[in-house]
Amino acid sequence: MAGTGQFFVGGNWKCNGTKESITKLISDLNSAKMESDVDVVVAPPFIYIDQVKSSLTDRIEISAQNSWVSKGGAFTGEISVEQLKDIGCKWVILGHSERRHVIGEDNQFIGKKAGYALSQGVGVIACIGELLEEREAGKTFDVCYQQLKAYADAVPSWDNIVIAYEPVWAIGTGVVATPAQAQEVHVAVRDWLKNNVSAEVASKTRIIYGGSVNGGNCAELAKQKDIDGFLVGGASLKGPEFATIVNSVT
Ligand code: PGA
Repeated sequence: MAGTGQFFVGGNWKCNGTKESITKLISDLNSAKMESDVDVVVAPPFIYIDQVKSSLTDRIEISAQNSWVSKGGAFTGEISVEQLKDIGCKWVILGHSERRHVIGEDNQFIGKKAGYALSQGVGVIACIGELLEEREAGKTFDVCYQQLKAYADAVPSWDNIVIAYEPVWAIGTGVVATPAQAQEVHVAVRDWLKNNVSAEVASKTRIIYGGSVNGGNCAELAKQKDIDGFLVGGASLKGPEFATIVNSVT
């Protein structure tokens, strides 16, 4: 934990769940013991946000998994930042690798989305991360720096941003980055912020890790100085395991 904020743990439920399974997950989360000095956020699919908001403990904040790039209007199938605010979303996940590599969103579009969400007062969990072939080609830092630059070029301020480093090869694969691999990139991200934004932003921005985090590997990762929390996919669908990850704060 190096950022000057609190440990931050987000649960990204992705395109999973039914009314029934989400009712069970909410009840498990409501009864789980979670350290009080950790920011905890869950990101349900859009259509379940209202259900989650009305029955989940206020101790956990709600995030969306995506948002539109500008004010709402004639954009079929999209959800606007204004609508997210209206139903009580404090956060939005942007730049997730599935949006980049499955849906085809590029750095500039993602940067613009982040800028718009922040301008409306919604916090951004800004994802970055390299593909396996980029890592193998020695391009991890370059790829992350380009993604960071697109955010930096578009955001009005860094006050409400958490950076999630999620190597694509670790997402949903069961192949977690080693604590040393994650720490190395987190330090590089912090240095990039220092050199390209400001020393203050570098020291206060939380940099969280995502990619196959689970109840068994979180404690070792959380010990790394520059890991300020986690973005959790699969393991966030299990209330008790998610609580274990929240409580791995050191
Ligand atoms: P995973 O997903 O924990 O299932 O690897 C992480 C993420 O995509 O945020």
